[in-house]
Amino acid sequence: MICGRFAPSPSGRMHLGNAFSALLAWLSAKSSGGQIVLRIEDLDPARSRPEHAAALLEDFSWLGLHWDRRAPDQSRRGEAYAAALEKLRELGLLYPCFCSRDQLRAASAPHASDGRVIYAGTCRNLTPTAELLSRPHCLRARLPDREISFIDGLQGPQTLNLQREWGDLIVRRADAVAAYQLAVVVDDAAAGVNQVVRGRDLLSSTPVQLWLYETLGLPAPAYYHVPMLLAADGRRLSKRDGDLDLAAIRQRWSARRTVGLLAWMAGITDRWEEVSPQELLPAFDWARVRREDIRLDAAALFP
Ligand code: GLU
Repeated sequence: MICGRFAPSPSGRMHLGNAFSALLAWLSAKSSGGQIVLRIEDLDPARSRPEHAAALLEDFSWLGLHWDRRAPDQSRRGEAYAAALEKLRELGLLYPCFCSRDQLRAASAPHASDGRVIYAGTCRNLTPTAELLSRPHCLRARLPDREISFIDGLQGPQTLNLQREWGDLIVRRADAVAAYQLAVVVDDAAAGVNQVVRGRDLLSSTPVQLWLYETLGLPAPAYYHVPMLLAADGRRLSKRDGDLDLAAIRQRWSARRTVGLLAWMAGITDRWEEVSPQELLPAFDWARVRREDIRLDAAALFP
């Protein structure tokens, strides 16, 4: 049985791009009789707010995107992340990294396609003294110089060299919080998630996550990376685009009108019509879903 998930970060109100990914995740799982798990990704204590989490849940319900199970919020999963870190440590893969953000930028070239900074390995062979360890540091996992290949259900075959295109991976941040890459793997595996539908911005993280699944001895899910919604000027839609967040949308449109726009943009209906997620189930087919990013003109949508 397919088990998909919603994994929103409660750092702001849901925007249309989040709703777009969630609709496709829901349709994909539910059209094959599967389930959806909901997990609040509140790892980052500085940016997560309970009121945002509450609003996210309310927005999913308003859209008609219901979940079958709720997995524990990430802020309550510290022990599971510590166990995974311990396993990496036993395998000899962990080391402390003392580089500041400025040092990282100076020592390495940003990756051309998405601005990611590739770690130059500065602290890889350092012998950490007690004095050094008293300074702020993150923990990195040594990534092998190896290609990871997988087939994305929507974007097709993908290959990435871990060492060349990532460098060593931060698995615990300097504030002692588990890094997203580690947490998402540990949590999806614990919840039995076997299908991940999410934005294309996370496509380059997937090989790193697949390496973590393999290294931790956990079963990896199938992936579908869906197009990003872009603002009219080509920027990624983000929580800062308040005109396209669900608070603004809900004042203007019904849930059926909103779902209809998302379905039409995804390529699964031929027109923008009013529809519920449930009504889209019988005809849902990944073969119809478009791969390319989608530009949205808020001024045209809300004249
Ligand atoms: N929590 C992430 C977000 O809201 C999603 C992470 C994922 O899907 O793996 O962007």
